[in-house]
Amino acid sequence: MKCKCGRRAVYFRRYEGALLCRECFIRSIESKVKRTIRKHGMVRKGDTIALAMSGGKDSTAAAYITHKIFGGWRDVELLAISIDEGVEPYRTDSIKRAKAFAKELGIPHHVFSFREEFKKTTDQISRKIQDSDSATNVLCTYCGVARRYLLNKKARELGATRLCMGHNLDDEAQAAMLNYIRGDLARAGRMEAVTSWSTQKRQGGLFISRIKPLREIPERESALYAYLKGFDILESHCPYAGGIRFEVRDFINRLEFKHPGTKFNILGTFDKLNPCIKRVARNGESRIMKCRICGEPSSREVCKTCELWRAP
Ligand SMILES: [Zn+2]
Ligand SMILES: [Zn+2]
Repeated sequence: MKCKCGRRAVYFRRYEGALLCRECFIRSIESKVKRTIRKHGMVRKGDTIALAMSGGKDSTAAAYITHKIFGGWRDVELLAISIDEGVEPYRTDSIKRAKAFAKELGIPHHVFSFREEFKKTTDQISRKIQDSDSATNVLCTYCGVARRYLLNKKARELGATRLCMGHNLDDEAQAAMLNYIRGDLARAGRMEAVTSWSTQKRQGGLFISRIKPLREIPERESALYAYLKGFDILESHCPYAGGIRFEVRDFINRLEFKHPGTKFNILGTFDKLNPCIKRVARNGESRIMKCRICGEPSSREVCKTCELWRAP
């Protein structure tokens, strides 16, 4: 089994019907990411990009490729942020790796923890929530809300203009389907590849525009890329992840197996629909105000994070 360049193939890309060797595979991933960044105008001159690094394969690959593209630019700055949610031993381990990797790339690395910010950890909350079918789901929501909150707040305080996330094609296709299933149009509207200037302005500049350079890279290719590049990453998953997302993931994977290219189609359809979804969602959208407790952007008087994490 040979790659078209004549070298031994290491991967069969089903949706293209192509065999790829190590070198051609790595090159194809990097140029695809570059195309994605350019196509959506994810980075402009003068940007400071905060790389969210969890120590996992996706955020490590996103950080590595973003650094490879922009590391040499004089007018683009890079920094890295890790959030310690207090999930042991999973998180301490992964932050150690993120720190080492950022050092290798020569990027300043900042760690912020739930313990410092909210005086609580996800582990502590988990002990409070009773065992039930929805317990993991609830916990994953608790943790996710606070993680996104802290990433945005800290990136902004550090002067970042872009927040680079590791989300891959699978994550994005799942999120699209989940928003569809839940009828969450507001969130579906925010799934655009890069936050537009008009949206940012309406939000008073309080939200840092999130970019996802890997949004067109399938999960298994992101994993293979990290493996072939020899990244020292954490392979295990957060013990609290679960819920309906997993069912949607399995469903999409079955479709993809039978109909290669399904994941691209799901995301592509959502991208095309995004302007319409935003228009519909905006009709019901509440004004962005500042949370009474923490001053961060919120659609209600008290933001979701304060409600969940700072409630007495
Ligand atoms: Zn090749
Ligand atoms: Zn708040």
